[in-house]
Amino acid sequence: MVISKDMESLVAGSSTIRKLFEEGLQLAAEVGAENVYDFSLGNPASPVPQQVTQAIGDVITEYSDSYVHGYMKNAGFDQVRKSVADSLNKKHDMGYTAEDIIMTVGAAGAMNCVFRSLLGTGDEVIAFAPYFGEYRNYAANYGGKLVVIPAKLDDFDLNLDELDKLINEKTKCIIVNNPNNPSGKLYSEDTIKKLADILEKAEKRIGHPIYVLADEPYRELVYENEAVPYIPSIIKNSIFIYSFSKTLSLPGERIGYMALSKNMDYYDELIGAFVVANRCLGYVNAPSLFQLVVSRCLDVNVDLDFYDRNRKLLYKTLTDLGFEVVKPQGAFYLLVKSPVEDEEQFVSMAKKNHIIFVSTKSFGCPGYVRIAYCVDYEMIKRSIPAFEQLAKDVK
Ligand code: PLP
Repeated sequence: MVISKDMESLVAGSSTIRKLFEEGLQLAAEVGAENVYDFSLGNPASPVPQQVTQAIGDVITEYSDSYVHGYMKNAGFDQVRKSVADSLNKKHDMGYTAEDIIMTVGAAGAMNCVFRSLLGTGDEVIAFAPYFGEYRNYAANYGGKLVVIPAKLDDFDLNLDELDKLINEKTKCIIVNNPNNPSGKLYSEDTIKKLADILEKAEKRIGHPIYVLADEPYRELVYENEAVPYIPSIIKNSIFIYSFSKTLSLPGERIGYMALSKNMDYYDELIGAFVVANRCLGYVNAPSLFQLVVSRCLDVNVDLDFYDRNRKLLYKTLTDLGFEVVKPQGAFYLLVKSPVEDEEQFVSMAKKNHIIFVSTKSFGCPGYVRIAYCVDYEMIKRSIPAFEQLAKDVK
C-alpha cells in the first residue's frame, strides 16, 4: 500500500450510500432505468429555477471573461458577500457586513475550513444522531474526533439530556443540522434556546467557547409553513453555514457560504483563519461564476411543491402498507423503521424489488433506512407495486 494508514481505513469504510447508488446504476443497465427506484442519494431532481439559468447567461455576457473566471479575494467577491449580508439582514436583522461572509465550496467546504482552523489532534466535535455521515470524515481530516449523541427515537428532536456530560475541555464545536438529514426533523426555537442555556453553562465550566456550526443546506425546504429558528440570533458563538446545493438544485456547482457575527468570541481570529483555510486547503475561493450567479438569486428557491407532493405520496403509501415512518417536516428525506431485525437485510430485500435506499447505520442511528425523495414524482408512482411486494416480503 502506498496510501497512508488513515486513508486506507477511510477507503475501506467509504460511503455505503455512494456504493448503493452505483449498484443502482448497474441494476438500471441490466433491467432498464425505468424499472429501478433509486432513493439513495440526496441529488435534487427538481429543475434548476429559471432565474438561475437566466443569471448564468446574464453574468457571462455582462462581465468580461477575465472577471467572471478570474481569481478574487479568497473570501469571495466583495459585492457578492455584501449581497449575502444584506439578504441575511433583511431576514434576520443581524447587522452583517460583507466582511462577515466567506463564500465557500458548498457547506462541505465551509465545514472543512472551520475544522481546519479549530481542531488539533484529539479535539472533539459533537454531533446529534442521526447525522450526515460525512461529518466524521471532515473532523478526521484534521485529527478531530466526532462524538455522537444517540438519537432520541421517540421524536427525533435534539437529545439535549445527553449533551452536557459529553462536553469536556476537548470539545471545540457542536453541529446542528436543521432541518435534519436524514430524519427530516425541524428543531424548534424552544429547543435551540435550551441548547443555548446548556452551552452557556458548559463554556463557563470548560473555560473556552464551543462553536455551534448551524449546518443549514435544507433551511428553505420546510413544508407546513413552520418557523425555522435562525440559530446565530439565539446562540452567540454560532457559525451559520449555508449551501445552494439543495435549495437551487446546484450540488455539482459547489457553492455556499458561511456567516459570522461580529459579537462572537474571537471573531477576528476566526474570520482570518477561515479565509486562510479556504486558500490553504486548495479551494482557493468558491467557484467564481456561481458566486456571481447566486448573488442574483438569493430570494429564489426550488419549487417546494415538487418535494412536498413526493413527501405526501410516500408517507401515505408506506404507512398504508404498514411501515413505521418518521413524518418529515423538512429537507427531502424520510426514515422508515426496519421491519426486520437487521436493516441491512431490509436494504437487500428492497434491492431484490429494485428499490434502492440506505441503512441509517452510517448516520449513527441503526434500525432505520433513509429514503431520499428528491426524485421524480413519476418514479415514486412507478415504485408503488414494488413497495407493495416489499411489504409482503417482510411479513
Ligand atoms: N450538510 C448536510 C446535512 C448535507 O446533507 C450535505 C449534503 O448532502 C452537506 C452538508 C454538504 O452540502 P454541499 O453540497 O453544500 O457541500
